[in-house]
Amino acid sequence: PSSLQRLRDAIRDVPDFPQPGVLFKDITPVLADGKLLNLALDAMAEAVEGQRVDKVVGIDARGFIFGAPLAARLGCGFVPARKKGKLPWRTRGVDYALEYGSACLEMHEDAVQPNENVLLADDLLATGGTAGAALTLLQQTGANVLGSVFFIELAFLHGRGKLEPFGPVQAVVTF
Ligand code: IMP
Repeated sequence: PSSLQRLRDAIRDVPDFPQPGVLFKDITPVLADGKLLNLALDAMAEAVEGQRVDKVVGIDARGFIFGAPLAARLGCGFVPARKKGKLPWRTRGVDYALEYGSACLEMHEDAVQPNENVLLADDLLATGGTAGAALTLLQQTGANVLGSVFFIELAFLHGRGKLEPFGPVQAVVTF
């Protein structure tokens, strides 16, 4: 099978997690296989081939798993966008709505400079609420937002519509 098919086949469906009715896409079998992890990162790097990237911003927590090695491959820096209260230095934050309640993502205020080309990375695009909030935060820094890259996109949730106003949206595996 093609490398894309091997990646797709390795993603495990977990019914009713974290709550009844949700079919959770579990990426841990991909992470546990060195060849597959490498293929996933190759594909994410390929999505931004030819572009100058200064910072990859990864979203807490699975966005770190892909974002930091992606940045290392691209030869650029990595910046964590974290859940509220986790970062030690001065932060800027953005609140966003969840299905039930709300959440806040924060970045260090000096993590991204206004002249930098920044790329958002996360493991999975669902409704786009989380990535949309991160892109809003990035835009507020005055950085040049290149767009976003995901390992998985759940296309039936139409999250990319929220993200495309900020730049191109790319995903390795689409369901
Ligand atoms: P969204 O904000 O609805 O797009 O949800 C995306 C966020 O929730 C990402 O940070 C994902 O890590 C997480 N997420 C949502 N659904 C899944 C899933 O099926 N598998 C893994 N992560 C998920």
